[in-house]
Amino acid sequence: MVKSGKDNCLMQVTDPSVREKYLVEINSLFKKLFPLCRSITGQGVRDTLELLKGVEAFTRNDISSGTDCYDWRIPQEWNIREAYIADEAGNRIIDFQQNNLHVVSYSAAIDKQLSFEDLEPHLHTLPDYPQAIPYRTSYYHETWGFCLTYEQYLKMDRKGTYRVRIDSKYFDGKLDYGEALLKGKSDKEFLIHTYCCHPSLANDNLSGMVLWILLLRELKKRDLRHNYRFVIVPESIGSIAYLSQNEAAMQKIAGALILTTVAGHGAFGYKQTYLGNHLIDQIVTQTFREAGQELIRYPFDVSGSDEKHYSCPYFRIPAGTITKNKYYEYREYHTSMDNLDFVSAEALLQSLNWHLAVIDNLERMRTYESLHPYSQPMLGKRGLYPKVSGHLKQQAGGGVEKDVARRVDALNWVLFYGDGKTPLSEIAERSGFSMQELDKAVQTLLEKNLLRAVGGDK
Ligand code: ZN
Repeated sequence: MVKSGKDNCLMQVTDPSVREKYLVEINSLFKKLFPLCRSITGQGVRDTLELLKGVEAFTRNDISSGTDCYDWRIPQEWNIREAYIADEAGNRIIDFQQNNLHVVSYSAAIDKQLSFEDLEPHLHTLPDYPQAIPYRTSYYHETWGFCLTYEQYLKMDRKGTYRVRIDSKYFDGKLDYGEALLKGKSDKEFLIHTYCCHPSLANDNLSGMVLWILLLRELKKRDLRHNYRFVIVPESIGSIAYLSQNEAAMQKIAGALILTTVAGHGAFGYKQTYLGNHLIDQIVTQTFREAGQELIRYPFDVSGSDEKHYSCPYFRIPAGTITKNKYYEYREYHTSMDNLDFVSAEALLQSLNWHLAVIDNLERMRTYESLHPYSQPMLGKRGLYPKVSGHLKQQAGGGVEKDVARRVDALNWVLFYGDGKTPLSEIAERSGFSMQELDKAVQTLLEKNLLRAVGGDK
């Protein structure tokens, strides 16, 4: 868990009564949002966005079906009322009302009596995980299908006939999404992204949506240095559409955090940006290291979430992903076992605090230029160095002297890398100082007119 108090980030949710409120709220959001039948378009997405807007305000937008977005086109909207497979006695053996994963997302309508033989090619199961219903989609190829547990499949009569009904429809409608732009003082803008297209699956991607809205709320309370663009869209087609509609603005994004799979019971992990050593990578690594929290490292992979679009050649937005049970890495992923038992409000709150800690360090990010670059400046005449000194580090046995030695050391590290190029996160990595300690040194040096911030950062 992240430490609280002045040694760590002031903006984290650590006060016991506030924490308690948050846990209740997260559980309530989990319960309300989990049952909604989301897909890349449709009423489930609209209901989800409306519910999230009740937590914190953001702008809802939409793009019409048929709109071209680079190499893609916004599909028709899909809505579904009911779907089931009934046996000869009329018993619904598979029912969408029981679990919305039972229908392949974007299934075409059907209402027929079929033999098992004709039905079987449309059934999807997981023989290696016989109690789990798989999650399957077919957005861009018109078909229909049912997903069921392997145990349910084994019970079906191979010689029987089945009533197969899916009451769904496609129509020219909208792709819905949400966004909010929080203004800071600098000219840097970061993207906080999540997606909102999965039906009843908890860690992927309910947890990302809840974290997104709580982060938005927390950042709105702050006086921000940088700008933050919050985007919630259906995965892939939504981020492609968003890029195409906001091309100029998105080209200026300095880095991104993708929010997904953040409330599992497992370990924290970090999927690196495509660069691997970008500012975002440095800050996430540094933030976890400073708190002594282990982090499973996942190198960049083109397979993943929306970073593959944001980081493509034209935009090249470095996007990192902090996870708690990363997608692909847990057995329950994309099955009915990724349910509310798999996630916890406590885990989500931890993820919220880590993301806040990372953003807190991002807020400290500036590069500086020493105003005395020709030698180490004389700290003594500015009251920044002890009056009596030998080898400061050798003298420093502990207590006040040790504090003084450490403070002077931090000043010298910042001055040494005051070349206008080295970001604070890199100085932290090289020196072993926390970003918070270095930030304090920066404040002192700015006050003493030994340093200035460079670029458009204010
Ligand atoms: Zn997914």
